[in-house]
Parts: sequence; C-alpha cells; structure tokens
Amino acid sequence: MVNAVLELPEVQEERPAGEHADGDEEQSLTKRASVSGGRPRVALFNTRTHEKILVAFSNVREALKKKHQDEAYPEWLGKGLFSRTQNGVRVLGQSTCFLHPSRPERVEYDRLGLPPCQAAHLASDDQVMAHMQARHPSAWKRLSAIREEARRKEERELQLDSIRAFKKVAVALGRKK
Ligand SMILES: [Zn+2]
Repeated sequence: MVNAVLELPEVQEERPAGEHADGDEEQSLTKRASVSGGRPRVALFNTRTHEKILVAFSNVREALKKKHQDEAYPEWLGKGLFSRTQNGVRVLGQSTCFLHPSRPERVEYDRLGLPPCQAAHLASDDQVMAHMQARHPSAWKRLSAIREEARRKEERELQLDSIRAFKKVAVALGRKK
C-alpha cells in the first residue's frame, strides 16, 4: 500500500512542500539538500494549480491536512491544498517577483544592488508578498524602508503645499480689506 504512493524523485522537480516554483536557485539548493539524504519522498499535487511537489514521507499526513489560504482565490479557501493524484494540467500564476528582470523598477534595483529573481509564476500579489518576505528578507526590508521614506516625503510636500496655499489665501484676504 505504502509503495503505491512512492515515486522516484525527478531531480528538476524536487521541491519541499509549500515552496513555490522558479525561486532562487541557490536557496532552493540549500533547502533541497536539507530534505534529501535518502529519505523516501512522495509526490503530492496542489489541487488548484496541479503543481507537483515532493514531500518527505513522514510529512505527508501533515501536508494532506493543509488548506488553501490564498485570498486571491476565495472559492478555494478552506479546501484541501494537496491531493495524491494530479487532476489537471499545471496552472501557472501570472504574478512576478518584485526582483524579476522584466519589472520596470529593475533599473533602480540594479543601482541599489538588489539581486534579480526569476520567479515569474506566483499565484497572486499576496503570494508575491509572501515570496518577498520568505526569499528576499533583506531586499524586502530595504524596499519597505525606501517606500516608507518616499511616502513621508510626499506627505511633507503635501503639507508644504497646503501651507503655501493657506498663506496665499491669507494674503489675498488681507489685500481685500
Ligand atoms: Zn523572488
């Protein structure tokens, strides 16, 4: 019975549970090494995207309890995340990592020395955020700080604008008297 669900891992498909495709090659290599070591692994399939993942045999029971949590796909929320059988053709997401070479901000990111990332098939913007936080924590911190600084600057400028406008009105009113 157990043997029926075992599959020989295909090297190019090896990914631990929950990890998304097309990520940092270096990081997935590290993760790959930590889950291998001759332990038997089982192929599971994402029930929405039909993506295949390989799970250590000892983790299969837990993996099969996982539910869909991505709010971009409300109809899937709470339904089982994985199945033992692949029931459709792999669906590729359309969201790209912020660090992907195709992003228009890439020029600026190169200047900042942020590494490129090839992840281009993430399921949703939510997943991009999760991907950024998990895979690029330091780049994410840096980008958040830059965004926050830009927001503050914009706020300061708005304040200055309204102060200037107020002064103009005050001057105009003064002249009328
Ligand atoms: Zn990435």
